[in-house]
Amino acid sequence: MMKTMKAAVLHKIGHPLVIEDIPVPEPGYGDVLIKVRACGVCHSDLHAVEGDWTPLPNLPLIPGHEATGHVAKLGPGVDSLKVGDIVGVPWMYSACGHCEFCLSGMETICKSAEATGYSKPGGYAEYMIAPAAFVGRIPETADLFELAPILCAGVTTYRGLKRTGARPGQWLAVVGIGGLGHIAVQYARAMGLRVAAVDVADDKLELARSLGAEVMVNAKDEDPAQAIQTKIGGAHAAVVTAIATRAFEQAVMMLRPAGTVSYIGLPGGKSDEIRTSISAIVNGELSVRGSNVGTRLDLGEAIAFAAKGLVTAKIRKAPLIAINAVFDEMRQGKIVGRVVLDLGTGE
Ligand code: NAD
Ligand code: ZN
Ligand code: ZN
Repeated sequence: MMKTMKAAVLHKIGHPLVIEDIPVPEPGYGDVLIKVRACGVCHSDLHAVEGDWTPLPNLPLIPGHEATGHVAKLGPGVDSLKVGDIVGVPWMYSACGHCEFCLSGMETICKSAEATGYSKPGGYAEYMIAPAAFVGRIPETADLFELAPILCAGVTTYRGLKRTGARPGQWLAVVGIGGLGHIAVQYARAMGLRVAAVDVADDKLELARSLGAEVMVNAKDEDPAQAIQTKIGGAHAAVVTAIATRAFEQAVMMLRPAGTVSYIGLPGGKSDEIRTSISAIVNGELSVRGSNVGTRLDLGEAIAFAAKGLVTAKIRKAPLIAINAVFDEMRQGKIVGRVVLDLGTGE
């Protein structure tokens, strides 16, 4: 009899996911089969389901790109992993390995890359496939639920932070204290930066404060750019993990002269354009950069911070069957920290 697994499947853009029993996939050359234990729910999964980005995801789609679990079976040609190894699968499912970007340590922008839970089936399932060369290695002592968000929220903010060039002692504004943002605060603290947190919800700002942010600004109550300029004289750097375009505009104006902002959030769809001040950028010699997930090296480093307890995602577990309700909470901005699906409950 063919072995089956439970998976949450998107058949039509904008529709709820359907929990189904489908065949457990077979690992091809260079791939491993992973028994998924946990998978974080990233806002990018919701963007995928809602069809916010071009190109659209491949349907039918199993979303999920913050997966952790153990290797259950090796495909032919795999000698870098063994059955039982603990691994994690990030958004970057694979990259070509030979283009100019792959060769220069920028595999995050490889044009032939595949994306887990978007162009390839992801981790909202009891089993998944991933190329052995691209999985993250996780220490056996790690909590697979707390570690799952590091596979996207962690590595992405880790790289985005580094791309600002901020150094210890300087001020970083973290704009958007969601799944990504609350982890960005922790990497920043672990790197010796001082953090100003900006969000539109007081409970998220309270979480940022408990994680070491020194300045909290609610962008609903006051102009956050003005507040950051008044309170700390402007930020040396900023990362934007919010989903509202206004936050991206405001973040530029939060910088002090010579400051850099990394854009990480991706509103997508019709709300993908911003207006900003050319003279503020020119006269202040400001830098605006994009940051897309992270390389395999970034991932290994990001996991090491978490494994050492320097960064710990604030998580809430949910069974796979709750996924559509979790998406509803995310739409309403109600999730504090990250929801992580528990694939070990059989439901
Ligand atoms: P999330 O829903 O957990 O968090 C979003 C946060 O933004 C919430 O706390 C919300 O209150 C806050 N917010 C909303 N409007 C705001 C405003 N005007 N000012 C300040 N904060 C505001 O989402 P997430 O999982 O953290 O993902 C955030 C974004 O990052 C998504 O667009 C996602 O697709 C994107 N993302 C990008 C990458 C990348 O590689 N660049 C990787 C992962 C996720
Ligand atoms: Zn490439
Ligand atoms: Zn993600």
